[in-house]
Order: sequence, then structure tokens, then C-alpha cells
Amino acid sequence: MIQHPRLDTDLNAACQWLGGAAVMGKGAAREMTDPATGKMYGTFPDADAGQLDRAVKHARGALKVWADCDPDKRARILHRVSELITENADHLGAVEAVNVGKPLPQALRDVGRAAEYFRFYAGACDKLQGDTIPSGPDQTVFTVNEPVGVTVHILPWNYPVSTLARGVAPALAAGATVVAKPSELTPFTAVMLARIAAQAGLPDGVFNVVTGGGDIGTQLAGHSEIDHVTFTGSTATGRKVMQAASAPVAGVTLELGGKSPIIVLDDADLDAAAEGVLRGIFFNAGQVCAAGSRLVCTPGIHEALISKVAAKARAMTLGHPLDSPDIGPLVNSGQIARVEGFVDRAKAAGHRLALGGSRSVLEAYPNGYFYPPTIFANPPPQSEIARDEVFGPVLVSQLCDDADHALALANDSDFGLVAGIYTCDGNTALRLARQVQAGQVFVNGFLTANDSVPFGGVKRSGIGREKGLAGLAAYLSPKAIVLNHGK
Ligand code: NDP
Repeated sequence: MIQHPRLDTDLNAACQWLGGAAVMGKGAAREMTDPATGKMYGTFPDADAGQLDRAVKHARGALKVWADCDPDKRARILHRVSELITENADHLGAVEAVNVGKPLPQALRDVGRAAEYFRFYAGACDKLQGDTIPSGPDQTVFTVNEPVGVTVHILPWNYPVSTLARGVAPALAAGATVVAKPSELTPFTAVMLARIAAQAGLPDGVFNVVTGGGDIGTQLAGHSEIDHVTFTGSTATGRKVMQAASAPVAGVTLELGGKSPIIVLDDADLDAAAEGVLRGIFFNAGQVCAAGSRLVCTPGIHEALISKVAAKARAMTLGHPLDSPDIGPLVNSGQIARVEGFVDRAKAAGHRLALGGSRSVLEAYPNGYFYPPTIFANPPPQSEIARDEVFGPVLVSQLCDDADHALALANDSDFGLVAGIYTCDGNTALRLARQVQAGQVFVNGFLTANDSVPFGGVKRSGIGREKGLAGLAAYLSPKAIVLNHGK
């Protein structure tokens, strides 16, 4: 049995991580609340502007040492980080579960993914080869992949440890240095990971963590000594980050929101589709950028499919994260108010509720932020609930006439992160997969890719790609060297 982690103890041990050491934050004290009980358990001190500046200066100061580090040594350090994450998985997972409100098995899975990112990118350190470019007999032209420089990583609260590792591991593999800013709601595992990296032998100053709210994020993104910002969060904030990063002319990778469609055609295996839809929207209580929040299907299968999904959803348990329920609480009072707002407006507009629709009050945790699986059947395509990202356990269905109409509905969105297609017709599957506007498309499954598969959005879902070898590009700056040796 895993012990309930003492977040108040972790809170005091984990503050800012600057230049290879834990430093108490000098900014405002932020109240930390357990989402399962609604009770405050302590305060977490933010970084102040001086500490933020120091973090960037540490990263700048450490850049040459890390960029010049032998690739084999760099790889060994990242491998060791991966091993230490695995060795500390129980503690990291329990802290993440309680801090985010995430069921423990899911939190442990996220920690495993963090270890896997470091393992994957450790293997890339000594393979970052450049190109030779044909340029006639009088010139030899080649490129050298240099690290991009100081990288800033601004993170959301829904997958704190795995999203951090997703960006930091390739940045470090490329020889870049890091300043990470976790969400103000979930600062713990970022600082724990920086400590682990130091134990693994990462030189001081290469990986820094500052905590705090959006103003810290904006100041970091606009700092004059940074070179790249990797941001994961909402589209609205992504725009602000892009604006801030224009001051230092820093590059941006933006992993933003979604309203991802799952198309189910008449000939699909309905049980498999129902399972994919269920996991696609209710996993992590729907607080997933890639959630399959729109089910697009024909009238002939609509009621049967909704019934199957609803039956499975009713069987899902809600509870304290450490009791390993299917669904934990939402992350905070603001998030549950957001979800309630969307659902209440949809009900008031008269959209048909097929499941859920009001907050769950658990006997053991009456003040927890629990929201049950909720389904709206066929609200109008232009309605708020059908278009906007709820970021909670709320599914809408949309009716299509045929495959082409399904495609049109799927693409009628500002977002384009992922998409799912269920059909037994291979030609139709391939045609839709090629035409649907999304960074990842899944056929006869949903969110089944491992973390070496490139991930990112089109349209308002983002810029750039993370994961896999594609995830290295943002952190490499190819320098072309032209040797003139003609007679
Ligand atoms: P936000 O956009 O609110 O915040 C993301 C991060 O940006 C947080 O660290 C936040 O700090 C910080 N921030 C807030 N305002 C600013 C600002 N003006 N300048 C710089 N940084 C700022 O997103 P959430 O944390 O609420 O996460 C939910 C959103 O993230 C959803 O829209 C979801 O779709 C998206 N997301 C996308 C993913 C992807 O890979 N595509 C993955 C996960 C989430 P603080 O929290 O302290 O305010």
C-alpha cells in the first residue's frame, strides 16, 4: 500500500531549483489545495522576478559546458535520469496523483512515460548528425547541429511530469539548457525531477525550475536572454506566449488545445468504437488536450453507440486518487466551475443530456471536485458545447449522413490536434485519415500511439512537433559551413 505523500513536507523540500540547488521562493505564497477534499494543505512560495532572472542567467552560463559535453557522456547522464525516475517512481507517482487529483495507476503511468522520454532521447545524443550538401567541385558544404541555446518550458497542470520530460529530455539531448515553469497548481514533480537530474550528474545550471503564475510565464517567454519557448497550454495563452517571445525573437513550439473528433461509420465494430470513445473522453476526467470530445456517427448507429458508451461510463468509479478509481477529482475549484458552466449553459439551451450533467458529491469526500461522465446527444454543430474545449469529462455526439459529411463535421473546428476513425473499409479509412485536419490520426483505436510518435497540432492546436525524433528539431540549430577550395 502506497503511503499518502506528505505534500506539505515535499512542499518545503521542493521550491525553486536554481543553478543546481533548491532555493526558497521569494515571491508570493500560493495556497495549495487537495482536489479530493477541497482542503488547503499549505502554501507554496513562487519565484520573484530576481529569481526568474537568475534562472535564465544560470541556464545561459551553463550553456557552453553542456553544449561542449561529449555526446556519450551526455547520453549516460540522461540514461541515469531515466533510471532514477524509475527508482523513485512510487514517490513521484503518489505526489503527482494527490497534487493533480489523478488516479494513482495513471500517475504511475505518467512517471513511466517521463522515464521513457529520457531513455529515448539519451539514445539520440550521439546521433545528431548534420548533412552534406552537394555544391559542385569547388565547394564542400555541410551542416553542424548546434544546440538552440537557452530553452524555456511552460507547462500545464494535467500531465505535469510527463509533459515536462517530453520537452526537457530532447532539449538536454540536443545540448540546450533549460528553465522550466510548471503550472502554479502542480509545481511538485518538476522540482523533484530537477533534483533527480542533478543526482544523475547533470552540471549545475543546465536545468532550472521556477514556479509561479502566468506573469512568471510571460516574463520568461519575453526574457532577453532566451532562445526558444516550448509552451503547452490553452490556445489563448499560447497567443500571449508567442507575442512575448517576439521580443527576444525566440522560437516557439506551441502544444495547445483541441476538440478532437472520433468518426464512427456504420460498418464499424461498435463495441471497439464504444471502448475507444469511452477512454478517449473520460480518461483523466477529460482533462486531456487530445481528448476525443466529439463523437461523429450516422443516425443508424447513434442511439446504440451512445447507450454502449453510457453503460460503460456509468460503471466507472469516482474516488480519491490513491484509491485508484477510474476517475479522480478535477484539478481545482476553478476547473469544476468551468465544466459546470459549460454543462449548465448547454442544458439551459435545451440540448439533450444523455448522461451525467451535474456535480458528483461523494460521501467520503463531499467537498472534492468530482464531476461524472456527461454526454450531450447531437447539440447543433454551432453550439458552444459542440465547438469549445471543455477540458472535462463531457462528450458531444454529432450526426452525419455519410463518410464525406463526417469528414466535413470533423474538420469544421478551429482545432486540429488528433482524430479517430472507426470503419472496416480500408479505403474509406485511408481517405479520411489523409483528409482529416489533425496532427495524429488513429484508425480503429484511439490515442494508441507510443511516445516515439510525433505529436502536435494544426490550425489553432499549435505549432511544431514534440515526441520522437521530430521532437528534437526545435532544440537544434543547424549551422551551414561552406568550404571554398576551387582553383
Ligand atoms: P493555461 O494556458 O492556462 O496555462 C499553461 C501554462 O501557461 C501554465 O504554466 C500557466 O501558468 C502559464 N501561463 C498562464 N498565463 C500565461 C501568460 N500570459 N504567459 C505565459 N505563461 C502563462 O493552460 P492550463 O494549465 O489551464 O492547461 C489546460 C490547457 O492546456 C487546455 O487548453 C489543454 O488543451 C492544453 N493542453 C495542451 C496539451 C498539448 O500537448 N497540446 C497538453 C496538455 C494541455 P499558471 O498555471 O501558473 O497560470
